[in-house]
Amino acid sequence: MREVLLASPSPTSGIFKVSSLAGRLVTLTSSSLGGEPQRSIVCQLDGSACLVPQDVVRLSEGLSRVIVAYRAADTHHTLFVTNQCNSRCLMCSQPPTRQDDSWLFREAMETISLIECPPRVVGVTGGEPTLHAAKLRELLDFAHASWPVTTVEVLTNARQLGEAGVAAALLEGLRPGRTTWLVPLYGGADELHDFVVQAPCAFDQTIGGLLNLQAHSQSIQVRTVLIQPVLDQLPALCEFIAKNLPFVQTVALMGTEPIGFALANAEMCLVDPSERVDEIRAAVATLRLHGLTPVLMNLPLCKLPAQLRPFAAASISDWKNEFAPECELCQLKPRCSGFFTWDKSSLHRTRVTPILRAKHV
Ligand code: SF4
Repeated sequence: MREVLLASPSPTSGIFKVSSLAGRLVTLTSSSLGGEPQRSIVCQLDGSACLVPQDVVRLSEGLSRVIVAYRAADTHHTLFVTNQCNSRCLMCSQPPTRQDDSWLFREAMETISLIECPPRVVGVTGGEPTLHAAKLRELLDFAHASWPVTTVEVLTNARQLGEAGVAAALLEGLRPGRTTWLVPLYGGADELHDFVVQAPCAFDQTIGGLLNLQAHSQSIQVRTVLIQPVLDQLPALCEFIAKNLPFVQTVALMGTEPIGFALANAEMCLVDPSERVDEIRAAVATLRLHGLTPVLMNLPLCKLPAQLRPFAAASISDWKNEFAPECELCQLKPRCSGFFTWDKSSLHRTRVTPILRAKHV
């Protein structure tokens, strides 16, 4: 979450759009969602704070700190809807909390209602969004009605979707092609997957959820994070996906975000991809052999051999990625994910090698 500072504490709370700017003075307008009266206030930004018209922010009464919920200029947009989760993944970048925060769904809808230029794609993330199935369905319906050409990507462990009642509530009548479900899977059997997500029975539940998504003709990306235990059994996982989940649209192989639980479990979770290229290459080959589409995410291009680079996406959101000084010379920088801003580990910042001849890559 990005933040900016006001010159003095906010007189009110809520979700507001930046309507106009005059020097350091910013006019903020609230949503009229559900017939709420629209409010406008004028605040002064702190010296270094940067907002532009169409940004959406969350004010908290009595605080100068302002959360930027939606930055209009970004390429990647995400609506954060809960910090609660029913798993405790070894490499979780945002460790869950127990408090009821379901009001975040309302804020997400207010944010949507304030945005004038719909994004091409918007993510819905947590925590685990399906823990609040009715609110999630309401949000999806609202997003699709407000933004008819936007794809909504829901990051979910799909465990709840394994239950027929939850699947029906969330998926009945949800038009195919408008929502893509991003579902992590860490092993081709329960032992490994349940260990990685630290939850018994999670594998069976997630597989049930994937089958229910398929039964409702939903678009699915299966994703896995390349931590040591997953890499050790990556061929078996890819074989499992190819044989049992051939209906998924893409399979994402992702570098770890080095924050949260990933730092607490650093030995297992922090991996230099250049040291596990053989496993990544074999995984890509297996998926392609079975007609699946692999995508490599969060992996700097110079850590991959040339033949794998066409499968890599510049996937780290623009507000949380950065590049090493060496990258300035690199011809592939526009296509590269770079590094997570908070990743200062020597592990990832060593062997950064600018690619000067981009032909054929
Ligand atoms: S040098 Fe930098 S921009 Fe180039 S591939 Fe490596 S990390 Fe990416």
